[in-house]
Amino acid sequence: MPRILLVEDNEMNRDMLSRRLRRKGFIVSIATDGPQGIDAARTDSPDLILMDLSLPGIDGWQATRQLKADPITQSIPIIALTAHAMAGDRERAFEAGCDDYDMKPIDFARLLAKIEAILGSVNSPGSRSEQPAEEVGSRAQSRIQPGQLRHDLIGPIVRIIGYSELLTEDAPALGRGDQVESLNAIGALAHEIRRTIDGILLNRTEPDQPIDLEALASSVLTPAHVIIHTCESLREDLPELTESDGFIEDLDRIRIDALLLIRMIWQVSSDRNRLPG
Ligand code: MN
Repeated sequence: MPRILLVEDNEMNRDMLSRRLRRKGFIVSIATDGPQGIDAARTDSPDLILMDLSLPGIDGWQATRQLKADPITQSIPIIALTAHAMAGDRERAFEAGCDDYDMKPIDFARLLAKIEAILGSVNSPGSRSEQPAEEVGSRAQSRIQPGQLRHDLIGPIVRIIGYSELLTEDAPALGRGDQVESLNAIGALAHEIRRTIDGILLNRTEPDQPIDLEALASSVLTPAHVIIHTCESLREDLPELTESDGFIEDLDRIRIDALLLIRMIWQVSSDRNRLPG
């Protein structure tokens, strides 16, 4: 489920576009101006950014230039959106580093095709410039890149946070109000994992400093196991168990993402152990 960051100051455009994208299965986060968009890109590591070009404060061109100059965010594809029919806008968007461009009013099918084309090319091996989105385990020979590792880890964490929020909202209406506390605890654990990962991977004093894999493992493994255990006991507590139950499916999604986190940590630790020295 790809994550899209929508940077858009117009409330109606924002509401319409985010709802239509969510209905297509994307996980959408929102920023309402340039500085917020830059922050959200750094903290959420989305798979793609939709960037309105005319924004208050820092406009979309400037925000794109900053994102493309930052090693943490430079590999995130950006589609520029503009209401101006001026020919120069398009060229300026590409000059700033945008990967594609679309015009308002948004033709949703056309935009969706552009989004899918970009996400498809990102996901096919070898097409993304410097840092292919490959499995963590397949780069045993190369140095572990903190920016890429963080991007890989943040994906499942953001999904766990998103699904725990959806489940928390759904629980009372489904007669599962007694589970809200545990669901909130899952979200809190995911936020905690994210904070410690950022502390370890972003706040290194020197760029060449090796990643503290022991600290990384201990900060992820215990809370991830607690999340899995919580999902399993919530599932056991459910009165009626039917496979079509969306609530159970969402709990399973959380459990699978927590397992994925554990697997990624194991792989990155064993890759390191195989390296000489
Ligand atoms: Mn605007």
